[in-house]
Amino acid sequence: MAGLENIIAWNNWFPFDSDKPLIIAGPCSAESEEQVMQTARELAKISQIKVFRSGIWKPRTRPGNFEGVGEKGLKWLQKVKAETGLLTAVEVAYPDHIKACLDYGIDILWIGARTTANPFSVQELATALKGVDIPVLVKNPVNPDLSLWIGAIERMYKAGIRKLAAVHRGFFPFENTSLRNIPKWELVIELKRTFPNLNIFTDPSHIAGNREFIQEISQKALDLNMNGLMIESHISPDTAKSDAQQQITPARLAEMLDDLTFRQANGLSVKVQSVLEQYREQIDSIDNQMLELLAQRMDIVSKIGEYKCENNITILQLRRWESIIQTRSRLGESLGLDEDFVIKLLQLVHKESIQKQSQIMESLHKCKGFNLKK
Ligand code: PEP
Ligand code: MN
Repeated sequence: MAGLENIIAWNNWFPFDSDKPLIIAGPCSAESEEQVMQTARELAKISQIKVFRSGIWKPRTRPGNFEGVGEKGLKWLQKVKAETGLLTAVEVAYPDHIKACLDYGIDILWIGARTTANPFSVQELATALKGVDIPVLVKNPVNPDLSLWIGAIERMYKAGIRKLAAVHRGFFPFENTSLRNIPKWELVIELKRTFPNLNIFTDPSHIAGNREFIQEISQKALDLNMNGLMIESHISPDTAKSDAQQQITPARLAEMLDDLTFRQANGLSVKVQSVLEQYREQIDSIDNQMLELLAQRMDIVSKIGEYKCENNITILQLRRWESIIQTRSRLGESLGLDEDFVIKLLQLVHKESIQKQSQIMESLHKCKGFNLKK
């Protein structure tokens, strides 16, 4: 099971003939039959859209907010499929949800971010899915814990689900940010590296939290070779009962899809491939040099740690640190590097240096400093 070897890629889930990324779109929540049908009719006119998403049971942070219309919404989705030919996708959080979705012929199930964070719930869903042949999408957990995400995917796989993919919807930010959820692309790249045959879709709507960033995030996802997008679209976004700020009209979505650049990932020509390889080679070599230099720097840090210890000097010398920041950011600027980037990098290196020196201080017995009681 380690590599999820037998996972089936999304373009073999249904009889479509597409080598383009999968576009899933639809409202955050089904609210009324008219809203669902009007949205679906407009989305169905956009040829790239193959799947209609809709929340039926909504996980809300506080009780009393709109918690979804429940089972009656599944009838509307059945009608969407019959009338427009779009496939339908719904979030499930309880085994009963799965049963209801299967009764109404829903085509794809997804596990929401809050559910993925809870292995008990994921296991209950996995158990309910044993023997069922339906595509399942696993959203990342709200917290940036790759193992938890992988764990949920593995539970589905172990239950026999082979039409399996991940959805990247960003991670809860602990700092103030303009985005609702931090993308942390490095985690997604690591997931792809761990399971190269796992398809990953990006949900730019929940990352953005706001209409204005959706296009930019979608482009980034495509540039990183994600396998598709899940985008919230509502016939009248401002009146939406959930996630109003991040939903866009089908018309806006059509415009956005036209503006996105879909680049080639596979099947590149030999020439393009070789130029890419050359650049990569250079990057590899520079990365190796950076790491070697960092190792040398750490050796010196160890020496200075021993020296400070022998002479009872504190590890953190504030003035020295300030001067490092100043001189390096000036140098960085003259080299055309972003100041914020240089400072973040230095902070990381500095933190590691301090840790290294603390370890040395702890390991050298002679280095006890002075005792307050004496
Ligand atoms: C949703 O897709 O509407 C949703 C609730 O998403 P998430 O689980 O990513 O918060
Ligand atoms: Mn939503």
